[in-house]
Amino acid sequence: MAQENKPGDELALQARDLVGKLRRIPVTSRRFVEDTQSAYERFRLRPGLLDLLAETGLPIERRDGQDWYDSHDLANIALHLNRGPLAVAARRFWPAALRQVDAAGSACYEIEYQLRCPTPTHGPTCRYVLAVPGGRLVERVVHADGPGLRESIRTTVNGSWPALPAAAVEVLDETRDFDFVMLPSDLRHDVGFIQESKLADCAGVAKLLALRARAAGLGARRSFGLIVAPPFAVEHSWAEIRVDDLWVPVDPVLIRAMIAWGVLSGPEWHPNRSIGSILTRIAEKGVHLGTHEGQPTHVTMPSRLVAGHSPRPDRPPTTAGNPTDDPATTLLSRLRADGLAIPADVDPVVARLQQVNQTLWDLEDAARGTPDDHRLGRLKRDIDAYNVRRAQLVSAIDELLAPALAQPTSRVAPLSCSLGTHFDRLTVAVLRSATLARVDDPRADDAARQLTELIDAIRADAADLRQARRRLPLPGVHKRYTAQVRHVVSDASSKEHDVAVTP
Ligand SMILES: [Zn+2]
Repeated sequence: MAQENKPGDELALQARDLVGKLRRIPVTSRRFVEDTQSAYERFRLRPGLLDLLAETGLPIERRDGQDWYDSHDLANIALHLNRGPLAVAARRFWPAALRQVDAAGSACYEIEYQLRCPTPTHGPTCRYVLAVPGGRLVERVVHADGPGLRESIRTTVNGSWPALPAAAVEVLDETRDFDFVMLPSDLRHDVGFIQESKLADCAGVAKLLALRARAAGLGARRSFGLIVAPPFAVEHSWAEIRVDDLWVPVDPVLIRAMIAWGVLSGPEWHPNRSIGSILTRIAEKGVHLGTHEGQPTHVTMPSRLVAGHSPRPDRPPTTAGNPTDDPATTLLSRLRADGLAIPADVDPVVARLQQVNQTLWDLEDAARGTPDDHRLGRLKRDIDAYNVRRAQLVSAIDELLAPALAQPTSRVAPLSCSLGTHFDRLTVAVLRSATLARVDDPRADDAARQLTELIDAIRADAADLRQARRRLPLPGVHKRYTAQVRHVVSDASSKEHDVAVTP
C-alpha cells in the first residue's frame, strides 16, 4: 500500500525545490547576517523550518557557535513557502486588488507614508523627504518628540489596458521559465545572470524586458513604484511597453508566480496581461521612498480604497510646514493688529500646542485603527500623556496673555472659555479642515469657513476682554491625569515597527 503524503512531506519537497533554485546564487553574493532570532522576527521562519532548509542544502555560515543566514535567502523562503506579511499580501491582497480594479474599471487609493525618527535624540526637529507617485518629492519637518511622520497621498490606477502587439508578447514569453526571486544587490540588475540562472528579481526583469523590447523595435522603459493593494502598498519594479500613446505596465514573472501559488488562474489572468491596475509609478529606477535627515529610512505604507473613484489630483496638505497660511499664526497677527499686546513668548507656545494636537490626532487615529489590545493600551497611555501637555500649554497661553487683558469686575458676564482654550480649539479645527481637504471630503469647504468664523469669534472675545465688557471664566476643573505620564512619553518612541521586505 502506497504511503500517503503528509503535509510535512509536501513542505520538504517545496523546500528542496526552492533551495535547489536559490543555490544558483553564488555564495560570494551572500551576506550571512541573520540569526535564528531575526529569521523569526523579520521573516516569520521558525527554527524547525530552518533546520529542514539546512538539511536540504541551504547555504549557512556557522560562527560564534550559531548559524547565520543570508537575508535574501530568508526573504525568498518566506515568500515562496508562504510565511510572513509579504507572502500574505502576494497571495491574498494582490490578486484581490487585480480583480477589484478589473471589475470597477479604475480605483483611487489613499496611501499613508508612515515614518519614525530612527534616532530621536538628534535634535528638536526631523526633516523627512518622501518620493511619492507621480515622481514628486514631498519634504516635511516635524518635531522629533512626536510620533513621527504620517503623510497621506492619493493615487488613481487604471483597470483597462490595451492588448500588446505580437512582438511584445514574444519578448514577454522569453521569461516564461523564470522564477520570481529577490536577488542580492550585486546580481539584481545583472541580466546575464538572470537569463542564465532563470532567477528573476523584479528590478532585473524590468531592465531585461525593457532592453529586449527596445531591441525588438518597441517603445519600452523601466518603472519603479508601488504595488497598491489594501491594506498596504509595497515597493516594486516592472517594465512598460508603449502601445499607441500609452505606457502599458507588464510583469509576466510576477503573474506566473501568483498562478504557481494557486491564487490566480491562467485563464483568468494571462501572464502577459497588464497588471497596471495595481501599480503606481514613482520613477524609472529605484529610489528611496523616504529619507530622514538625508538618510534612507523604513517607510510603512498602509493603503485603502477611497470611495467614489475621485479623479482629482493630489492636493498638498495644508497643515504644518507653511507658516504663512497657518490660521493660528494668522490669528496672532490679527489680535496684535486689533491692539492686544501679545508678548512674543506666546507664538512658540501656540506652535507647540498645534504640534501636540497634531500628535494627539495621529495617536487617536492609530488607536481607532489597531486591532492589537496591547498596542491600544500603549496608545491610550500616550494619548493621556499628550493631553497633559496640551492642558499645560493652554494654561501657559492664558498666563502669558493675562497682563494684556483688562481686569474687569465680576459683574460683567464671563466668556464660555479662556483665550488659551480658544487657541486649542482653533488648532484642532485647523487639523480637521486640513484632513478633510486632503481626502477631498465634501465637508472640507464648510470646515474652512468654520475656521474663518472661529478666528472672528476669538477676535470678538478678545476685544470684549480688552475693553472689560466681558471677563474670563473662573479656572475650570480639568480632567485629572495620572502621575505616570512622564514615563509614558518616553515610551512613545518604542512602539513596534512593521517588518516589510521589498519584492
Ligand atoms: Zn529625527
